[in-house]
Amino acid sequence: MLGTILVNLFINVLIMRKIVFQLILTLGVSYSAFSQNAQRHCASTKFDSLYEQRFQKMLERDNQFANDKKPFYSFKIPVIFHIIHSGQNVGSSYNISQAQINSQLAILNQDFRKTNSDFSSTVTQSAFLSAAADCEITFCAAMVDPAGNALPEPGIDRILAYSKEWSNPPYSFNYIESTIKPGSSWDPTKYFNVWVVGFSDGMTLGYAQFPPIPTTLTAVSDMVGNGGPANTDGVVLNYNAVGNMGSATYPFNKGRTATHEIGHWLGLWHINGDSGCGNDFCSDTPAQSSLTTGCPSTTGGVSSSGCSASPNPPGKNYQNFMDYSDDRCMSMFTAKQKERMQAVLSNCVRRNTLNYSAVCNAVGIEENEASFNFDIFPNPAHGQFLIDIDLIGHQDLTVSVLNTLGQTIKEIKYFQSNTGSLKVDLSGKPAGIYFVSVKLNGVSKTKRLVVE
Ligand SMILES: [Zn+2]
Repeated sequence: MLGTILVNLFINVLIMRKIVFQLILTLGVSYSAFSQNAQRHCASTKFDSLYEQRFQKMLERDNQFANDKKPFYSFKIPVIFHIIHSGQNVGSSYNISQAQINSQLAILNQDFRKTNSDFSSTVTQSAFLSAAADCEITFCAAMVDPAGNALPEPGIDRILAYSKEWSNPPYSFNYIESTIKPGSSWDPTKYFNVWVVGFSDGMTLGYAQFPPIPTTLTAVSDMVGNGGPANTDGVVLNYNAVGNMGSATYPFNKGRTATHEIGHWLGLWHINGDSGCGNDFCSDTPAQSSLTTGCPSTTGGVSSSGCSASPNPPGKNYQNFMDYSDDRCMSMFTAKQKERMQAVLSNCVRRNTLNYSAVCNAVGIEENEASFNFDIFPNPAHGQFLIDIDLIGHQDLTVSVLNTLGQTIKEIKYFQSNTGSLKVDLSGKPAGIYFVSVKLNGVSKTKRLVVE
């Protein structure tokens, strides 16, 4: 009933999202008698038929399913966790520890590669065993910030709310969408932005922004099938539903909220299509009458589907990350879910550039060997530095300075130079790590430079 009303109301995804948020907030009041975290509350966009029509066109155009010949790819997604706190010590309250973030990254890399150790104990039905997929998606901690500076804690951007003139956590959806995200998002074509916050409704575990769906084969538009603006793209997690340690709170203490929300961020619906026995457009997830609460079994037992179209066994796929089960019994994606996520990573603006982002690779520009040598001094430098090169006769050479993203920020060509000492000026460039590359007779040699 609610699903039908919602679908009718949804004129576009943007309007839909606001309505869903308001409905969820309204419903939340009546559920407030439940203790926090008694039941999973995901505030991501609910199923929308217009959006799905565009998604299906994208899948057709992608030829994703043609004779099963479309290959799968391995994708790597660089992640930055923006931890929003109000001055707590690291490891306390909202300001969760680096170890807790690392535990979340490890869980994502298991869940999206089907290497999670609880898979074999929770998935025992043959139908689910054959449907379960290694999604071939991995996650890495960003090593540099957008200015190219090395991050003191890989994958982590700690933000004291006061420093941004924000109010202190916890936050409402509206405040997160209008203030927190636009004020802290990093280039979403290079980073997958995840915000770790406290939610003021006291029960939401997380939500995701859906991918923008391209409208034509050639031009990838951000205007139609829009999951939302660029500066709000990403996933928001409750600080007590991250990773499997520290503030992570039972029964959502195994990092599956992030796995679930990233499923939405990559174009997956809830497993019941957000209605009784509804369609999630994945033919290998059985229809089920409702989303699951708790864990029907932690050893793979059958939970009745409640739908005439779905036999028992296998019953509900409550082990699926896109159900509402507790963390300890959700443990798989299916092959069809993988196809959707891989299509998104191949086709959707912002998602399709992440695999080529170099931000996880602070030392991606290798220091190499060449037949000539040069020295940089002083190093660390303050704006200006000298390059001393062993030159034989007059030589053409090129000096390039690159930031840690591999972008050339300065390039100087010298023609028939016979001086071995070249002055380079980086005044005005931000402090941090740079790479100085000298190209001589077609051979390049690169050295690291620290600018203070
Ligand atoms: Zn959800």
